[in-house]
Amino acid sequence: MFRAPKGTYDLVSPRAEAILAVREAMAEPLRRAGFGYIETPSFEETQLFVRGVGESTDVVTKEMYTFTTRGGDDVTLRPEGTAPVLRAALENGLHRGALPVKLWYSGSYYRYERPQKGRYRHFSQVGAEVLGTEDPASDAELIVLAADAYRELGLENVRIVINSLGSDESRPAYRAALQEFLGTLELDEDTARRAELNPLRVLDDKRPEIQAALADAPVITEFLSAGDRAHHDVVRTRLADAGLDFEDDPRLVRGLDYYTRTLFEFVHDGLGAQSAVGGGGRYDGLSELIGGPRLPAVGWALGVDRTLLAMEAEGLPLPGKTGVDVYAVPLGDEAARTLFGVVSQLRRAGVRADIAVGGRGLKGAMKAADRSGARHAVVLGERDLAEGVAQVKDLQTGEQESVALDQVFKRLTT
Ligand code: AMP
Repeated sequence: MFRAPKGTYDLVSPRAEAILAVREAMAEPLRRAGFGYIETPSFEETQLFVRGVGESTDVVTKEMYTFTTRGGDDVTLRPEGTAPVLRAALENGLHRGALPVKLWYSGSYYRYERPQKGRYRHFSQVGAEVLGTEDPASDAELIVLAADAYRELGLENVRIVINSLGSDESRPAYRAALQEFLGTLELDEDTARRAELNPLRVLDDKRPEIQAALADAPVITEFLSAGDRAHHDVVRTRLADAGLDFEDDPRLVRGLDYYTRTLFEFVHDGLGAQSAVGGGGRYDGLSELIGGPRLPAVGWALGVDRTLLAMEAEGLPLPGKTGVDVYAVPLGDEAARTLFGVVSQLRRAGVRADIAVGGRGLKGAMKAADRSGARHAVVLGERDLAEGVAQVKDLQTGEQESVALDQVFKRLTT
């Protein structure tokens, strides 16, 4: 027997419907805020991610599904959505129209990670990007919209953690100070190399001994330029105005290199090690990194799989509707023909309806009706047909009534 590849899993009902409902709940606040939908291919030229995400990141060095096509092209299954969406926006000239461009998307992403609960090699995100503005109000808007999505799903324990990584005005001085500090520590070879290449990465090292050694490391907050500080202050004020609680974490860094200024993460403490249910930030330099014009932007990606796990951790019922409202039980060919018409008509009128097939007997078909979750069963036997009626049974109360065949539709739609 074949099995799903390592680090992947199948979604079957009712969790499959729940995933759809989670995606929908994440998209709804974005639609309400005027975001347009965008879809890009599942794979891109490898260099897009190498340049965009950053050569020294774990994503690029260890986690990409990269291959050469039969035609000799070097492509990579997308490990994230921001670089592809920005590439698509530039290619389609969206940046030459009215700014900002507000886009949302939903899809599968691929990272060759060590699988564990909440961390998969194939996972699902809903993302949002605001392209073409430096206004900190857009950073705050995105954070509020994500918080709205989590709230609408009923989640109560999502924490918002924010930081500023500064811009080119602040980062070089901080980088140098951090590098100097890291130089005083006894680091293993790998970590020492990372400290050379990309010292901010070291802050993201989760090993307790490294975290302990970093206790006295300089924090970015002390190095922010006046402009970077003013930007960050507006973001914080807007969040407070919107009534959102958030925490400042001057050590927050994320696994992608393109972030500038605002950085944020949505954390759920019921998930164990993989506690981030979403995250994002500002990436004012990314467009230029991938060969485009200057196009300041901000965005986030919310993890759909982990958000569903968070809902389960909070004991929330699975979202998303399964089953039907009406289940038709025909006994005999003629009845099957008649009820086929009734069920089609009900569906067209927006009623969720199903019908027993395969000439099932009454007992088996009524079991299926119960399993379907339907409130009403419509039973049509030969005697009913002769009398021009059907039996409409309320599956909750057990009450049953004879309804004239031409009144069944009306009875079930009013
Ligand atoms: P990132 O693109 O790394 O900023 O991730 C954004 C969100 O996607 C994270 O907060 C997670 O919720 C989710 N995510 C990232 N990687 C994985 C993964 N390997 N498996 C499941 N969810 C993931």
